[in-house]
Amino acid sequence: MLYCSTRGGVQGWAFRDVLFSGYAPDGGMFMPEVVPRLSHDTLRSWAGLSYPELVREVCSLFIPEHQIPRRDLEGLVSEALSKFSVPGAVRLVQMKEGLSILELFHGETMAFKDLAMTCTVRFLEYFLRKESSRATILVGTSGDTGGSAICSARGLAGVDVVVVFPRGRITQVQERQMTTVLEDNIHVFAADGSSDDIDVPLRRLFADQDLVKRHGLMSLNSVNVSRILVQVAHFLYAYLQLSGVEHTRGAEAVPVLEVVVPTGGAGNIAAGCIVKHMGVPLRLVAMVNSNDIVHRAVQSADFSMATSVKKTLAPAIDIQDPYNMERVFWLLSGKDGALVKELMEEFQSSHHLALPETLHKGLSALLSSGSVSDNGIVEAMQRCWKENQYLVCPHTAVAVWHHYHTQPRPGEKRCCIATASPAKFQGAVERAGLTLDLPEGVKALGSRATRCTDLESGEDWEGLLRERIYSIGLARQGGSLFYSD
Ligand SMILES: *Cc1c(COP(=O)(O)O)cnc(C)c1O
Repeated sequence: MLYCSTRGGVQGWAFRDVLFSGYAPDGGMFMPEVVPRLSHDTLRSWAGLSYPELVREVCSLFIPEHQIPRRDLEGLVSEALSKFSVPGAVRLVQMKEGLSILELFHGETMAFKDLAMTCTVRFLEYFLRKESSRATILVGTSGDTGGSAICSARGLAGVDVVVVFPRGRITQVQERQMTTVLEDNIHVFAADGSSDDIDVPLRRLFADQDLVKRHGLMSLNSVNVSRILVQVAHFLYAYLQLSGVEHTRGAEAVPVLEVVVPTGGAGNIAAGCIVKHMGVPLRLVAMVNSNDIVHRAVQSADFSMATSVKKTLAPAIDIQDPYNMERVFWLLSGKDGALVKELMEEFQSSHHLALPETLHKGLSALLSSGSVSDNGIVEAMQRCWKENQYLVCPHTAVAVWHHYHTQPRPGEKRCCIATASPAKFQGAVERAGLTLDLPEGVKALGSRATRCTDLESGEDWEGLLRERIYSIGLARQGGSLFYSD
């Protein structure tokens, strides 16, 4: 199993090396050169596996034995998933009107990102320890990635985490999950701008190969292919639990499952597409809020950013640059790196792209999509509560909205992905006129000390981040940290 860039400029990289990289050196994103196929017999034989067992199977498909031996890999995954608040780390809930929800939010920061993040950080630590080396993780966050990276890496000796979040555009709980972590390997910046504004200086820093090498600079955004690969397990788990595949025999066709995904950076959608390429019959539905670029791309080939990011009740998907779509385009184009390079460079420079006809045909066959307004989010939260006394977060609500407005196809089951706990998004819960019993962990956040550095509009964010990365490097050489906030 080797990895290549979606833009065709890099091939034959080992898992370890893509794990430690953000974007590929040619500006593209890493993908497995060959997507393994799962036979129907394999699918049937996996039907009884728990979620952690499935994560182990998935990881061993993508991480070769000579990079992490199977025994070590199993230990790393078990440890990574051991601190979740439900047995098996995830939970499937079935409710009225055929609504099935896969809860992926039982990790420390109460969003699905904890699942792949904790595994990825363990893999990282495994290699760092083996190589007596260190790394600096640089993450831009629309709210949940940062907290998840911080909680997965706090206190680790070989790793510093630098997180930049959009000030005022994330919830209090999200902000405090980051700023209350005071370990000295954690560095939090509050930027006066949107997630997409933050992405610009980060891309420049990652493009600086000298900086990347010298400081072991790496990403833990869903740019990192390891996170996408671990997320393959969500889709397989939903499929195995709900499709009834174990009741089929021999060459008989296996059933289809529709998976409805609240979509922002499209990391989950990219993982879902990989699962389809592995031969699992999924019908994928990408649901967005009024930041609807993915929906417009599916409907009318219009992959263009709007003039600005709209603030909605579902802030973790307030994204105009769904960068993982590059992985989807690469798979759809039959791994045509030259085409993807041309298209993505055009998109990056002009923020506009009309998808070529064949690519758009492929995309609309692969995915269906929908866009939900704030009113729709409130409506889905209220209806789900009324029918089931079950509270969904505003992101999960965009998926549940799809369930309430369309019928699954005859003979097909459907699963909505729950990406976060409603406890993280109290404002939206209040907007829907609902109430919430806050978990103790969330209540405690309010009284803790905080630390973070502001990045003001008009300042040189790239330069300020670069300075911090230098000072971390100096401090780690000297064995202690001596910058001050
Ligand atoms: C990150 C996030 C998403 C978007 O996930 P992608 O894989 O980037 O599309 C959706 N909901 C919540 C709560 C998130 O934190």
